[in-house]
Amino acid sequence: MKMFSLAPLRFRLFPRFVFFLTLIAVVPVATVSTLIVRINDDSLQKQVQRFHIQLAESLANRMDERLSTLQAQLFLGISALQSPNLSWAGRQDFLRSLLDSSEQFGIISVVNNFGQEVMKVYNPVLEPDIREQEALISHRTFPLFLYFKKTGKQSVRATRRNGKTFAEIYLPFETPAGLNAMYAKASLNDLSDVISQKAIGLTGYAYVVGADGELLTSPPAAAGPNIQIIKDPSMVKTALMGSLGAREFRDENGIRWVGASAPINKLGGAVLTQQKRDEAYADVIKGKRTAALNVLITILIILMAAYLLAGSLVKPLLAITRVAQDVDLARGAFPEPVRITSGDEIQDLAQTFNKMIEKLKGYADMQVEKLIIEQKKTEAIIFSIEDGLIMTDYQGKIQLINHQAKNILQIPGDTDALGQPLWKFLPSPDLKTAFVDVLTKPEAKKAIEVKLPREGKDNFFALKSEHVRPPNKQETLGVVTVIHDITLEKELDSMKEEFLHSITHDLRNPLTAIRGFIRLFQSGQTGVLTDLQRKMFDTMDKASLRLMTMVNDILDLARLEAGRLKLNLASIRIEDISNRVIELFTPQARTNTIQLSIETANGPLPPVTADPALMERVFTNLIGNAMKFTPDGGTITIKLAASDDAFIGSVRDSGEGIPKAYLDAIFDKFKQVEGRFKGGAGLGLTICKRIVEAHGGRIWAESDEGKGSIFTFTIPRNLVIPQQEKAA
Ligand code: ADP
Repeated sequence: MKMFSLAPLRFRLFPRFVFFLTLIAVVPVATVSTLIVRINDDSLQKQVQRFHIQLAESLANRMDERLSTLQAQLFLGISALQSPNLSWAGRQDFLRSLLDSSEQFGIISVVNNFGQEVMKVYNPVLEPDIREQEALISHRTFPLFLYFKKTGKQSVRATRRNGKTFAEIYLPFETPAGLNAMYAKASLNDLSDVISQKAIGLTGYAYVVGADGELLTSPPAAAGPNIQIIKDPSMVKTALMGSLGAREFRDENGIRWVGASAPINKLGGAVLTQQKRDEAYADVIKGKRTAALNVLITILIILMAAYLLAGSLVKPLLAITRVAQDVDLARGAFPEPVRITSGDEIQDLAQTFNKMIEKLKGYADMQVEKLIIEQKKTEAIIFSIEDGLIMTDYQGKIQLINHQAKNILQIPGDTDALGQPLWKFLPSPDLKTAFVDVLTKPEAKKAIEVKLPREGKDNFFALKSEHVRPPNKQETLGVVTVIHDITLEKELDSMKEEFLHSITHDLRNPLTAIRGFIRLFQSGQTGVLTDLQRKMFDTMDKASLRLMTMVNDILDLARLEAGRLKLNLASIRIEDISNRVIELFTPQARTNTIQLSIETANGPLPPVTADPALMERVFTNLIGNAMKFTPDGGTITIKLAASDDAFIGSVRDSGEGIPKAYLDAIFDKFKQVEGRFKGGAGLGLTICKRIVEAHGGRIWAESDEGKGSIFTFTIPRNLVIPQQEKAA
């Protein structure tokens, strides 16, 4: 039997601990880190974008500044040309000196109302294609001129042709001949070079687009040899709409870029910068990676801490559980105490647990001691009783034997009979038969007598057996046999018999003689008696009759108890017997005015197998008692009935009744209700009981005190002769 029944050890608490501890620690760490990284990201990205915007803006401003400078010089030219004092040649010289004042000017010319150049100077270094004779050309078909003509306002445009970037400007001025224009073509190559050489990191560059979106700068030199400008159409479009700002786009290879644009307000077009996103945000990405790594490391540390913490919490509990499982009260197994030195509540728990185990152990020891004491006591009882006692299992092997049993079976005291078959120790065949009988049928609960000759005389033993059944248990462990020495009882019995025999002769015979003489005196054969003498003889007759009855009762009972009563069975009609008895009592009943009647249930009764003389004795005793204890004027009713298997007879009277405490006791020898002595020795009912029981029946009394009693007896209709009878 196990004291504790626990589920098999499972690590249920441990993963839960780890999970919740991790959850509690990791979630805030992860959340906070993500937030910080995101804030950082945002600011870093903004910084990168701002840098791009500023760069684009500064480059755009430089382009515009260039235009402003050129414009200022041209306005100076216009005012000189408008001076009336200046000759044609003077004007020509002035234009030339204007051209020479800036090395960016390629051409400066005056275009009349019809688009025809009327005066022109050029820088052959910048414009090597112009030949002297073709110097003056018509601008009539030039789109910028047409635009200028249409608006009548200053028209500016940046263009790139043959790998060169330049600006063309028409500045209006009025002459008497109409609206003329000062035309200039100025190189922007220096600016274009500056821009195309601008490096932003390793992958970034800047470029300029014209008013129509055409590229005005050469491939970005700084970003590597074979790098082509990637022009994102939508970005160019936004840039040309005049917006200053940063944006991201993805090129046709799927690479992501970060860029910014700034409009070139006066010259038209825009400066754009762009850089591969991976590089631009390298710091951001790196920061993110570092943060992720940090978070990961933190989580790992937390996990480890949770694991260790959970382990330190759960391990002692597991240790305690294991110890609890190892406790086995039935086998007296108590494991070593749990050793926990964590210095916390768990240590307290372990100590309390150890104390409990200690107490349990003490209790178990106590139980064992108690058991041993009990066992010793039982042994002492078994070995000190006078009867022989043998316990055998169902294979007939001896489990326990006391020395009295050894004595009776003449087994030497030092023989170890335990575990040996009992048959080995049963030499006489009688003994063997008796043991077989008693051991195979313990439920018969009947003693079997056996005679064993010992030291020249016969010894008698009664063998009685019983299944051994532990308290509150159904299964049996074996059979215990008690061997009771009945030699003395047997001797007493035979002495009693002898005594009774002598009483029969010594007491009854003189009494019969006395009664014979009394009757002789009463008959008057010995002389006439006086009235007084007659009365005396009547009293003597009655007293001797009572004495005779008493002696007879004692002798009958002795015979009944000695088992010497023989049932002379015959098929009898019980009502004949009861009627005969009633007839005997009728004169007395009449004298006492007692109504004596008989009731028979439903016609004649079936015959019964019984001893007629003994049945008559039963009726005589019961009716006689009823007559004795019923006052004058009372009633006595005899009832006879038969069921399927028994005959039932009863005698009811309206006498004083019997106190409850006496209802069973009056069937015992010499027992009478105190204070109601009406003669008799108190043996009548005992004799009735013996007779009824000898017939296999039952007798009992019921009474309503003060109102009467009823005595009922049954005898089986198909009588089986009892054992005792057979034995006799
Ligand atoms: P006895 O009649 O010789 O005393 P019994 O054995 O017949 O012996 O009766 C025992 C006792 O039972 C009686 O002494 C009496 O006290 C009581 N007893 C028996 N029969 C009756 C009865 N019918 N009514 C009242 N008491 C009775």
